Parts: sequence; structure tokens; C-alpha cells
Amino acid sequence: MNYHLILTRRCNLNCAYCHGGEETGPDTEISYSLDELIAFLKKDQDIQLMLYGGEPTLRIPLIVELMDTFPNARFMLQTNALLMNNIPREYVNRFHSILVSIDGPENVTDGYRSKGVYKRVLENVRWLRRYNFAGDIVARMAVSQESDIYRDVRHLLELGDPSFDHVHWQLNAIWAADENWVDFDGWIEKSYNPGITRLVTEWIDRMSEGIVEGIVPFIPIAYSLLTGQGASLRCGSGIDTFAIHVDGTIGVCPISPDWDFSLVGDIRKTDPSNLRSIMKVDEPCPSCDVFAICGGRCLFANKERLWGDIGFERVCGTVKHMINEIRERIPIIRTMIDGEIIALEDFKYPEYNNGCEIIP
Ligand code: SF4
Ligand code: SF4
Repeated sequence: MNYHLILTRRCNLNCAYCHGGEETGPDTEISYSLDELIAFLKKDQDIQLMLYGGEPTLRIPLIVELMDTFPNARFMLQTNALLMNNIPREYVNRFHSILVSIDGPENVTDGYRSKGVYKRVLENVRWLRRYNFAGDIVARMAVSQESDIYRDVRHLLELGDPSFDHVHWQLNAIWAADENWVDFDGWIEKSYNPGITRLVTEWIDRMSEGIVEGIVPFIPIAYSLLTGQGASLRCGSGIDTFAIHVDGTIGVCPISPDWDFSLVGDIRKTDPSNLRSIMKVDEPCPSCDVFAICGGRCLFANKERLWGDIGFERVCGTVKHMINEIRERIPIIRTMIDGEIIALEDFKYPEYNNGCEIIP
């Protein structure tokens, strides 16, 4: 099973769409013992630990201790990358994937995250590349109203030094809309949906050169459409992916320790075998005509509806637009696979759940 381990709730940034840096006090730190964690995880034969925060690199000695304690576990990291270069080299190389938060060009990234962040992130990704990091480096964007999805994704894909293997994004469409958006509908209509169409078109154009660019949401959606293999909730929350919060409670999703619905166990009392598939998305997802491809997007949004039903539907409109743009081009993709210009294997991503939720 996959576990997001929240190493601290503190963060060394205070980004416009998150406000995580405001978390202070004793409740931000792990209050269970390593022995309690070991006793819980020992009951699971196949563990993947996805290190998460707050900002997990504020706790590098703990990262080292965890890697020493669980030599057979697979590790993933989600980080703002500001302190990443302090992880000892032999330990950083143990990560299968590292998701690095960066939102696009310098003005966009620094505008949301803080001045100087963009340059520092790139410096530290160069540091990873210098040590021939063999894992997957994912540029992980939070997309909000200053974002231009076409410009920002292309910027990150085309960066040569350093390069990212993949680009993934989440829409800033979970927390209260009023604090974050002036005109969400207008942005979707004039900027986001047309940007997606343009990105899909150029993604297909590059395939004719034998290149399947690493645009995360497009790749598994295309795979499902090509193979007919339906998807369950792609982030895995409540199915095979859980969060271990700092107090030892187990939640379905790492972002929601304060929502009672999401707490489904405690490492001191719960057996991992009782967690699998404990929670699923509710309507309207199971009856939705793209459910087999979307999988339900986000369990938290499905349960909490902080944007209300109408807001939920607005976001669904973007998902349907993206799926339709890719669906229309499946015959072209199939022709290129048959002509051995690209391979079906190019669309098998991610190898393991690496924290990319897939559906933005
Ligand atoms: S598009 Fe919306 S309603 Fe349809 S499955 Fe996805 S999240 Fe659910
Ligand atoms: S997509 Fe939603 S449910 Fe899944 S991990 Fe992200 S916030 Fe949680």
C-alpha cells in the first residue's frame, strides 16, 4: 500500500494558494514513535512511503532514519525543493520520483510562491541532475488565475538546464473559491480550456517525431482511451493510498487531517489490510459518462464540495474538455503506434503512484 507520511505540518514557504507556512505549534510535529510506525508498517508486505508535509525537507534527519529503517520500501518525495540539496546524496538517490513544486516561468512561480524561489528550485534540480539522479523528476504546478496553462507547461517542458522528465499540475480548485479567484469561469473559457486544446495539439504534433512529451495528465488518459482499460480514482485515495498524519491518525488524503470524514484509522490500532478500498467517490461520479477515464478526480472535492455542486460541475467541465480533446485524436495516436513511430508503452505512466493525481 502507498502511504503519504506527513513529516511535519510546517513549511518554509507561505504560498498564495496554500498558507501552509502559517502552521505553528506542537501539533505540527510527529507525536507517534518510530516503533509505533514500524509496528504498523510491518503488517504490510509492500510499502511505498511518499514523504510529504508541510515541507518534508525540514526534517532531513528523519528522512535518513526512515530510509535506514525501511531498506526495502519504495520512496517518493513531494518538495518545494528549497532545501533538497541538503539531503545526503546516497539518500536522495533512493527516491523513485521527486515531485518539485514549480508553477511556470519565474514571474508566475515567484508571484505565487515568493521572490527567488524559481531560481533556487532550478539550482537544486540542477544539483539532482549533476549527481545523475536516476529517478523521475516531475515539475509539479499549482495552477491558479495568474497561470496560462499553455505558456507555463511549455516553459517547463522546454527548460533544457535543468530538464524535467514530466510536468503535472493541479487546479487551485479545492479551497474556498472567493479567496483565490476573481473570475474562474472567464479564466476557464478564455485561457485554460483553449490552452489545453493547444497543448494537446502540439503534444500530438511532437509524436510524429517519435516523441511523447511528458505531460502527465495527457499520458494516462490517452492510455485508458487506447486500451479501454478504465481507471478508478487515480490518486488512489481511500483505495490503496493513505496518509499517516503527524498524530498517527490515518486519513484517506494528505491534505485533509482536519476533516473528520477523511480519518479512517490510527497506526496504533489499525491493521493495513482493513484499509484497502475503505472509501469511494459518491455521485455524480459513478454515473458520469467519463467516469471510466476520469476516475472521480479528487475524493476530497467529491466529499466536501467546498465549491458547492455548481462549482464542482465547473471543474468537471475542464476534465471533460481535456478528455474530449485527447479522445478526438486517439485515431491519429493509434496510427502512429501501428506505424511504430511511438509505442503503446510510452503511455504507461506512472510506473507506481508517485503522487501525481493525474486528473488536474
Ligand atoms: S468529470 Fe466530474 S463527475 Fe465526472 S467522474 Fe470526473 S469528477 Fe466525477
Ligand atoms: S486528488 Fe484529492 S483526494 Fe486525491 S490526494 Fe489530491 S486532494 Fe487528496
